[in-house]
Amino acid sequence: MDSRSDAIISDNMVNKAPMSPFNVEEFRQSAHQMVEFLADYYRDIESYPVRSQVEPGYLYKQIPDTAPESPETLDEVFSDVKSKILPGITHWLSPQFHAYYPASFSTAGYLGEMLCGGLNVNGFSWIASPAATELEVIVVEWLGKLLNLPKEFLSSGGGGGIIEGTACEAVFVCILAARKRFVDKYTAEGLLEGEVHSKLVAYTSDQTHSCVAKACKMAGVQGDNLRILPTDASTDFALSPAVLLQAIENDIAAGFIPFFVCGTVGTTSSSAVDPLHAIGDLAKSFGMWFHIDAAYAGSACICPEFRPFLDGVEKADSFCLNPHKWLLINFDSSCLWVKDPKALESALSTDPEYLKNKHSDEKNVIDFRNLQLPLSRRFRAVKLWMVMRMYGASGLRTHIRNGVRMAKHFESLVKANRHFEIVTPRNFALVCFRVKPQANDPDNGKTINQKLMDTINANGTVFFTHTVMGGVYTLRMAIGATMTQPIHVTDTWAIITTEANRLLGLDSEMCFNSDSGAEMCSSSDNESVDSDCESTPVLNLSDSEEQPLGAGALAAAMRPLVALSASNSFQERTECIAVA
Ligand code: PLP
Repeated sequence: MDSRSDAIISDNMVNKAPMSPFNVEEFRQSAHQMVEFLADYYRDIESYPVRSQVEPGYLYKQIPDTAPESPETLDEVFSDVKSKILPGITHWLSPQFHAYYPASFSTAGYLGEMLCGGLNVNGFSWIASPAATELEVIVVEWLGKLLNLPKEFLSSGGGGGIIEGTACEAVFVCILAARKRFVDKYTAEGLLEGEVHSKLVAYTSDQTHSCVAKACKMAGVQGDNLRILPTDASTDFALSPAVLLQAIENDIAAGFIPFFVCGTVGTTSSSAVDPLHAIGDLAKSFGMWFHIDAAYAGSACICPEFRPFLDGVEKADSFCLNPHKWLLINFDSSCLWVKDPKALESALSTDPEYLKNKHSDEKNVIDFRNLQLPLSRRFRAVKLWMVMRMYGASGLRTHIRNGVRMAKHFESLVKANRHFEIVTPRNFALVCFRVKPQANDPDNGKTINQKLMDTINANGTVFFTHTVMGGVYTLRMAIGATMTQPIHVTDTWAIITTEANRLLGLDSEMCFNSDSGAEMCSSSDNESVDSDCESTPVLNLSDSEEQPLGAGALAAAMRPLVALSASNSFQERTECIAVA
């Protein structure tokens, strides 16, 4: 990173006087420098290895083990950021980041983050910053309406929403609310509180995010009173209502009290979707709290074509999605809607003298501190507000659809190649795939797939991760990073197939079709892993000359195109995707 930001930094830093705690002109100048630094970073992001290549402890050797006694200058800090911090960064915003679920990010999201940090308000109660509270009510309502949530979840319908920091916090507060509801009920019937605690059981599937297990642990759901129910390929790794019913009946027969069930829309491993209607019916029959975790895939449901995945949400007590995963909002932002906000308040509220004020006492305002774990809270609503205003619902839908289209294309490339297979069906923008194991492979393809992933990730050109589905070692291609363009997807496929060819001992080369640009074709060797690619759809992205290229060269050749395309508008980006 150099050029403009370096020039500005050195011009501005002739004065080496220590920075004051706050001075308007100094702030203006320094903040400009930071923006220049970040703009250069985003411009050059593809020049960094996507996954950091450092070894554990690398930074301890480079940074002093005590804080400086005397002030240092901003340019000294910038210099260390470049030489010491950036090498240890895994570049979540890179267009070639396809690991986990990508981090969401956008210009409007970042501007919102600046405003949030710049105003630095702590809106724990209405009086502490009325705009922070009221804007949060408004934007969570906006998003709830975009999702077509039942009115019972909206504040206008008696429910309510809040922006928590993470889905982990969201499920934790719901478990605390459910536990309180049950403890109140059973202690009123004469049981001791400890007795009730020891009998409470919660249910999830083995595909549910570990946030539920952690929340149960913290809430004192004792021992193995969290029933982690098995799933398999017969339900595409969704929770089976029959398995859930059986577990509930066994528990009731053994004297336990079922109190909480979590269904997921878009599981972390494979983006499986649990049957919400059936789970909701069981929750209702047995009086359990039903939470839906749609941390990743919930965002997609602002598109009418994905909304059916939420059918049954009307039977839930609480519903959570993370706009910071896929809705162009910078981390952190996790929206939680509940039908009964008083249940959260009942579990979480306190009333210390030093926070008392007229409006809270009169109960004519919302004090969000009573619906979350910490007291303090950031003005996260302003990020959501800016993103929703500056992209509009149509822009957000286009962003989701672009990710899904690219994932569909990647899926079609995998399917068209006889050496690869899809492991579980794709619902959103995550593709679960693997190199097919050879007959009689003793570890069912684990070694070759692990090697394929490790080698590519170590090279730094792209970054993707794995999971295990029903004992099958599975590669995950999670598409949806904001800067990812179709070209990156075809580029990644080239890298994967080149490496797979090498590992399988197949002789091949990648090449461009002269008329399709980024599409790949195999060499004349029919055994290469890309041998079937002529049957795949074409992404019409560039008019490169036909030439043999290895994967590394391929990636390098793509970079200038990427830098240009990253600035495209939604419309231009949509148009450049020639596959549906
Ligand atoms: N739920 C699901 C389905 C997830 O995929 C994840 C993270 O990827 C989480 C919950 C945890 O989210 P958070 O980090 O916001 O707690």
